Amino acid sequence: MKLARRLQAIKPSATLALNARAKALAAKGEDVVVLAAGEPDFDTPEFVKQAAIDALRSGFTKYTATAGMPELREAVCRKLEKDNALKFTPDQVVVTAGGKQSLYNAFQALLDDGDEVLIFSPYWVSYPDMVHLAGGTPVIVPTREEDGYAPDPEAIRKALTPRTRAIVLNSPANPTGAVYSRATLEGIAAAVRDHDCILITDDMYEKLLYTGEFLNIGNVAPDLVPRLLVSNGLSKSYAMTGWRLGYAAGPKALISGMQLVQDQSTSNASSITQKAALAALNGPSDTITAMVNEYRERRDLFVAGLNAIDGIRCRLPEGAFYAMADVRALLGRSYKGTVLTTSLQLSEALLNDFLVAAVPGDPFGAPGYIRMSFVTSREVLQKGLKRLRDFVAALQ
Ligand code: PLP
Repeated sequence: MKLARRLQAIKPSATLALNARAKALAAKGEDVVVLAAGEPDFDTPEFVKQAAIDALRSGFTKYTATAGMPELREAVCRKLEKDNALKFTPDQVVVTAGGKQSLYNAFQALLDDGDEVLIFSPYWVSYPDMVHLAGGTPVIVPTREEDGYAPDPEAIRKALTPRTRAIVLNSPANPTGAVYSRATLEGIAAAVRDHDCILITDDMYEKLLYTGEFLNIGNVAPDLVPRLLVSNGLSKSYAMTGWRLGYAAGPKALISGMQLVQDQSTSNASSITQKAALAALNGPSDTITAMVNEYRERRDLFVAGLNAIDGIRCRLPEGAFYAMADVRALLGRSYKGTVLTTSLQLSEALLNDFLVAAVPGDPFGAPGYIRMSFVTSREVLQKGLKRLRDFVAALQ
């Protein structure tokens, strides 16, 4: 069947595809070590679930305003002021079905055909495709592991053109776990200051921080706040991936445009989820602290284990919950008579024969790397490490 031309540039999400294959193997009874998931293994806090149950019982099951219940938009403003020292009013906030929808709506609202968006690589897989879907052109600006994945201001300056409408910042980052320092953010701010574009900050992993402090670019460059769009959500910090709750705060005109997109597509995020989100944002944060402390231990265990394997090298991520391992030293070796030349081939062999699901770096703009999440139990991480050692030992 003939499908729209704009779909031709879109790739299915590699992470979702790999997860689906891993799940299919598990369904057949295979003992798969899944290190591909992008979601916490913790359960949603009980007080959040209770708020949803109360919403259901009280019949709060109807449409809300497209941009979200007024109390929730106010709670988002309070959160942004308290946690991030960023001031927004409720009419500058739109509540969405996940952080993904915030970003998607932003690109739909901002871009005309051929407009450009600067994205740093390695990047979260969905950014370039979302830009394509809106008719825009992603412009990839590489960063280097040696620099802690901090973008080079000079490279940003060179990439900016009269068509650049937006730049996407993601710290802590998926897939690298890198966190931008004050100096890095100041460098980015200086590079874009004189260029009229929107700064989209994807702060989804804000709370998943193991060292240092979280800073939004608006904190180091208050003069840029009028063109700042903050995208965030509850998926990762409150272990609520399935609930679908995100939000964005930014310039009124852009928020209105995003609301228009949402008006004519999904309407409001689930009313029940919104009640749960209100409880989460107004409630205690001790569940987040407990989760982060546990993830820190798992990170240390897993990254140390990876670095102990000859041919694998892994930088300690400062945030998020992914280990991005450099496997370039393994490429060129052969497995079962076939020379492995890409991390995609390596991931496939790992999954098929060693039952470890790790995502290849290629779709993240990081060939030669594999991404593994450490949001699984220590026993499973140890099992994964053992299988990785066995895999490397089987290479020739
Ligand atoms: N941004 C980044 C960097 C992510 O990794 C993800 C999810 O994996 C999202 C946004 C979207 O989160 P949500 O599940 O709330 O749509």
